[in-house]
Amino acid sequence: MAICFPNKPGSAIDTSLKALKQILGDAGKSTLVLALVLVALSVLAAWQLSRQLALQVESAHVLGYARDVLRRNEQTSEQVTGGIKLLLKEAVPDPCSASSIDLMKQIDLASSNLQAIGRVVGNRLVCSSLGRHTPGLDLGPPDFITALGYQIRQHVVFPFAPGQSLAVVEWQGYAAILHKDLPVDVALAEADGLLGVFTGAERRLLMSRGALPERWAQHLREGWETVVVADGHLIAVLRSRTWSSGSMAALPVSYLDRRTRAFAWILLPAGLVTGVALALVALLLARRQRSLVTVMRSALRRQEFFLVYQPIVELETGKWVGAEALLRWRRSSGEMVPPDVFIQLAENNGLIGQVTEYVLQRVAREAGALLRSDAGFHLALNLSAFDMHSGRIVGLLDGLAAELQIEPNQLVLEVTERGFLQADLARAVVQTLRARGFQIAIDDFGTGYSSLSYLETFSVDSLKIDKSFIDKIGTESAASGVVSHIIGMAKSLRLAMVAEGVETQAQADYLRASGVQFAQGWLYSKPLPLDALKAGLLKAAASVDPV
Ligand code: C2E
Ligand code: CA
Ligand code: CA
Repeated sequence: MAICFPNKPGSAIDTSLKALKQILGDAGKSTLVLALVLVALSVLAAWQLSRQLALQVESAHVLGYARDVLRRNEQTSEQVTGGIKLLLKEAVPDPCSASSIDLMKQIDLASSNLQAIGRVVGNRLVCSSLGRHTPGLDLGPPDFITALGYQIRQHVVFPFAPGQSLAVVEWQGYAAILHKDLPVDVALAEADGLLGVFTGAERRLLMSRGALPERWAQHLREGWETVVVADGHLIAVLRSRTWSSGSMAALPVSYLDRRTRAFAWILLPAGLVTGVALALVALLLARRQRSLVTVMRSALRRQEFFLVYQPIVELETGKWVGAEALLRWRRSSGEMVPPDVFIQLAENNGLIGQVTEYVLQRVAREAGALLRSDAGFHLALNLSAFDMHSGRIVGLLDGLAAELQIEPNQLVLEVTERGFLQADLARAVVQTLRARGFQIAIDDFGTGYSSLSYLETFSVDSLKIDKSFIDKIGTESAASGVVSHIIGMAKSLRLAMVAEGVETQAQADYLRASGVQFAQGWLYSKPLPLDALKAGLLKAAASVDPV
């Protein structure tokens, strides 16, 4: 039986479904993919965080066990070595004399971890805190001898403790008898936890609780402690700072997994919510961008865009020798949209070709008289990377020069370094345009991607030095050297230079002294409406050529 939720038109569910459909319906494929990636990444991040937290908690837990074991083992070592040292200090001719055995008894009583302490001759225990053992209790050969000379026997059965396997640690003719499992006899909450003690230098397993492989001790290469995940276990390995020994504790990795899942129950929903929120933001931003694109398209149709013209000045004479056409967008509400914003929007959404055509149409309509009145005056137009790769631009510019009734060399086409990225396509366009007589300038020079190598493969007419470099003139900043470098290079390539964004007389003086021919910037004039540009030109002509 299917379970159905009522979904009446106009209900809350219906409204939210509609809203969601609208968002999703409007979203491009790449935005949807981005949204899904955001959700997936957030969930993944939440899972990883859960794992990390679980690892922290369980590592502390297993380290705690290993520390307990180490502490108990250190205490045992202290009692073994301390006891034997006391007996050695006595150094009586007969180590099994009544007084020596008394001392052994005292040591035994005072040491909580020792079962007995005694004298060994050959492989026999001849006397101990339990009395004389005539003719001596056979201990058998040691299982191994540590680097410090301790002879270890791990399984010895004594007549005084039948059925019990005890450990014997022999050093300098004396031996301590211990319960094998004493150091690993700590309280473990997990039945399948593993514990062990190993010797310091050789990393030999001295005792263990559970089947703990000796090789795990090798996980500690340097330092005093480590926790690793290996062989299906979370393993802590510690080394003693005072004794030549170490300890291990291990828990099956399933405990770590269980703890990870416990954290994930809390963190995954939070990750999912964050991911969905981010995805919705991405979808909404994409939708807003698309609606702005729609607005921009109709603004182009409604002629909300217009041109302003910023004079380009000859530094030597101060004469206005040309102007750059810059596009402006005033929305019907009166709000101005900055060019950086709408040009980027047009470039990202396939509208930039239309923008360029719009600019050319405007220029054709309004700038003819100005350009025809002075054949030495040039107009600079900004072309986009798209224009340089489309090939359509050549025909459009031919049409523009014809309509304006001017020689193509009165038009300077500013292209940023991005316009040269697809070198083969761009080279063909540049060559064709220059063959027609149009001039080509590299815009925003120095900020782009390419080194200077492409300059040699493209023949262009001039460089526009980016404002960011002009700003550095006169400052101590390291980049100030870049300006003189760029100028030097342009000179060696015999390219004309236009400095962009000149705001101070000091910058102008520096540029003129360095041999830069042209400048543009607020020092001379802000971008002007065409009539203001014409008026400025007339005023300048009147003052230069008195009648
Ligand atoms: P751009 O081609 O580097 O244009 C120079 C920018 O510097 C212009 O900004 C201009 O107004 C500004 N500027 C000039 N002198 C000064 C100064 O002394 N101080 C300061 N602070 N700024 C100065 P705008 O007009 O905002 O244009 C920004 C960018 O938009 C342009 O940079 C260009 O990349 C793009 N753009 C403008 N119009 C068009 C166009 O018609 N087509 C294309 N494709 N891009 C355009
Ligand atoms: Ca420009
Ligand atoms: Ca610039």
